[in-house]
Amino acid sequence: MTPVSDARRESMLASPGKGNGSAIAVPIRHEVPAGFDHEDLAVATGERSGVTMAIAVHSTRLGPALGGARLHHYERDDDGIADALRLAESMTYKAAAAGLDLGGGKGVICAPSAEPPAGDLRRAILHDFGDLVESLGGRYITAEDVGTATEDMVEIATRTTHVTGMPVERGGAGDPSPFTAAGVQAAMRAACHRAFGTVDLAGRTVAVVGLGHVGERLARGLAEAGAELTVADIDPAKQSVAGELEAEWLDPDSALLAARDVVAPCAVGGAINAGNVEELRCRVICGAANNQLAGEQLAERLARRGILYAPDFIVNAGGLINVYRELRGYDAERAMALVLGIERVMGEVFGHAEVAGTTPLEAARALALRRRDSA
Ligand code: NAD
Repeated sequence: MTPVSDARRESMLASPGKGNGSAIAVPIRHEVPAGFDHEDLAVATGERSGVTMAIAVHSTRLGPALGGARLHHYERDDDGIADALRLAESMTYKAAAAGLDLGGGKGVICAPSAEPPAGDLRRAILHDFGDLVESLGGRYITAEDVGTATEDMVEIATRTTHVTGMPVERGGAGDPSPFTAAGVQAAMRAACHRAFGTVDLAGRTVAVVGLGHVGERLARGLAEAGAELTVADIDPAKQSVAGELEAEWLDPDSALLAARDVVAPCAVGGAINAGNVEELRCRVICGAANNQLAGEQLAERLARRGILYAPDFIVNAGGLINVYRELRGYDAERAMALVLGIERVMGEVFGHAEVAGTTPLEAARALALRRRDSA
């Protein structure tokens, strides 16, 4: 991929050419690399922004491929494209296991620098991305993800109708994180039932690692349920949450390795890795972060150590369930009822794993594939 120089980007922003019209303004290549079973990979260099962006469509067997638009700075554009492919596949599993009539897809926008793009450049990027979404004719529906927010969806919606995560005042589902947090707590009840014989979270010791949109809400929900909390974040300002909830405050590494009933990774991916898997001292891992295991073989190692791992794509499906309802006519109460169903799905996954003698991760995959392949 040819990087676009800052000077060229400036000149593109100054004269956006046909990007101002109604025609699709992004030159697009469709190129699923060998070894991937995705249906499509559309890669474009935004005509207005000069920024590389990609949409990977893994599967549309159950319905349109819905997945967020990640805006992130990658060392190489190819790393961003690889991320889109990987994340799109996990969206297929997430939607299928949650019982939604949706396929799996993901958008990735390779931000030109680590500093989040702002002003005219951000708008140009979002319009280019909107055109790329539109070019897929509804096979991919976008939503917010790491680096994008509700107001970005509004900007994208000026170029395509295939957008979810719109503000409440525009008939949208708004911020997904309360639904994601409620789903994590529902999954945690199922995991505690499996590990300790009761869904009751009162008195359970739980470490929440990452107090962002989801983690902080989860911590509040757990405090209400009577759990004994430990919380952690790399941002020292979040210590005030610990004070408010009368929770213990630890640094993130210590919280992850603490001897607690449950550890809830709610920050970045790869929290559980080859370097720390043998040092974990919890009984259950159940958190919001995507791709919590740095490698799939870690699921086996956790099982061997007697640690119950609740697969992240089942646990954190609440946000997806919420935006899915947006496509069906949004109703917050119905969305929340569906999200709370994660407790039942999680219980089924643990049950199947026991019967089949596999890890919960394998059982969750099998459940998702059974549903997708029955379509
Ligand atoms: P966020 O950006 O609001 O919060 C992340 C928090 O983690 C921040 O407070 C940050 O300071 C902290 N953090 C970053 N690195 C850390 C580290 N190494 N150790 C401890 N804390 C660290 O993100 P979010 O929306 O709360 O999402 C959290 C995770 O859940 C992400 O992995 C996201 O992909 C996943 N997820 C979120 C949603 C949702 O609805 N927001 C849905 C599904 C999955």
